[in-house]
Amino acid sequence: MSGDRHLRPDPDGRIAGSPATLATVLVKATSPYAGTVAGQHLLQLLVNLLARQFGVVREILLEVPDCEIHRGVFLAPRITEGRLLAALLFLGDSIGGDLTITRVADGSPATVVICVGRSADRIDVGVPSIVVAGHQWTASVSTSGSTANFESFSRNPIGPYLAACIGAGFAFKSAYGKQIAIDRNFNLWRTEGELGPELDGITFPTAYVLGLGAVGSAFGHLVAASSGLRGNLVAVDPQYMSDTDRNRMLSGTWIDPGESKVGLFTRLFVDSAIGIHTFKGRWPQDYLGDPGREIPPKIRSSERAGRFEWVISAVDRNRDRIGIATQLPLNVMSGSTFGMAAQTAYYSMQGNCECLGCRHRTPVQLGVEDLAEQLNNLTKEERSAWYIDHGAIPQVMASIEEYLDNPSCAGPGAADLARLRLQGRVDWAVGFVSAAAGVILGARFVRAAIVGPDREIEGGSESRYLFWADALRTTKAMRSGDCPICGGKRQG
Ligand SMILES: [Zn+2]
Repeated sequence: MSGDRHLRPDPDGRIAGSPATLATVLVKATSPYAGTVAGQHLLQLLVNLLARQFGVVREILLEVPDCEIHRGVFLAPRITEGRLLAALLFLGDSIGGDLTITRVADGSPATVVICVGRSADRIDVGVPSIVVAGHQWTASVSTSGSTANFESFSRNPIGPYLAACIGAGFAFKSAYGKQIAIDRNFNLWRTEGELGPELDGITFPTAYVLGLGAVGSAFGHLVAASSGLRGNLVAVDPQYMSDTDRNRMLSGTWIDPGESKVGLFTRLFVDSAIGIHTFKGRWPQDYLGDPGREIPPKIRSSERAGRFEWVISAVDRNRDRIGIATQLPLNVMSGSTFGMAAQTAYYSMQGNCECLGCRHRTPVQLGVEDLAEQLNNLTKEERSAWYIDHGAIPQVMASIEEYLDNPSCAGPGAADLARLRLQGRVDWAVGFVSAAAGVILGARFVRAAIVGPDREIEGGSESRYLFWADALRTTKAMRSGDCPICGGKRQG
């Protein structure tokens, strides 16, 4: 099935494959919240993430009040005017392809209920249910139905987006019977007792966004939806969207595989005042090696001085992280996923944190012949597990098996093996975790722009949302004494 990376065995060993019964999710939104910008940010991302749960969610039933949509909420596909229900139906269709169905609720039974906004009229529905709401920087979620009654006038998407990720995660877990009770507010502003500012008029420093896949595009989606935010981004990625990105890449719809990731990223910003500059290639090698790159003079001059002030790293390979580290950017904010954990970290040569080199070492990679020998020493079962881990289709498995039988004859098997070796393992990944990593990453970047990086990392330079536990954790990271880049010492 296309875009089903969440159906592989998850790294915690808790789930594998489709659940016995595919979920029918009832999304129930109330007035006035559904008419607000915040409410629509939440609904848009929630339906978006549910529609990507191929093989887990079958149907999304919508019960939403009839109201006009706000501009700047529906970015991919772009919908600028019309009614909310129609927009959500179109969104669900555009994302879900043939695999998930989004339709108007008609009283047919649901297996899980997500209430968006006010919870006063929530009744005991006899199936797992959760109330989600978002306001400014805070996501409020409750399985007992006790969230605050938001009538939000905030245009800030941060809290609503995180609430949408948690709601989509609840539906996913409930399909496997693994949902947990939760009554929490998660404030991404992170300062006790403060709601956090509106984003209008805030200018962020020019930043390189490296890697525009699942996490990078969620970061972009959040920034593009933050009306009033100003600044410039240099977006870099060498790749095209593939079928397997469909379950989690927010810049792409069902029909977009084959489009370049930089093109899809740029499309998010059509109505935005933020300046987007793109480069299709790898950073730093291709980028710095191309003197003709189209970058505004101001950015070019600081590049010539060897200064990369801000890097948003959403690359997913260690060798790309090392490539970034060698350029000694002043500030790196990185986002990634591991199973059901959405992770972010701040890295710098200065300050109380790690540098990118402290944890990410270039992996030792076997040559193709050594790898062939190693595979030949495995049992047939172990070898098939290796193929599955590396995303090989049956045809490719067969060609590699042929090559392993007779390594002296270089057929397509040798080339296939070389390609799988380069691509590495295909990991378990699901949309709401990637989106949450992009959202936390975006929130931290904007917060750092407002309060400065030192204050941003006061409580710890790492922040992650753990979807199995439904917990937001901030931790301190120590420099590593044997780091080849900073040597374990801060430079200021
Ligand atoms: Zn280091």
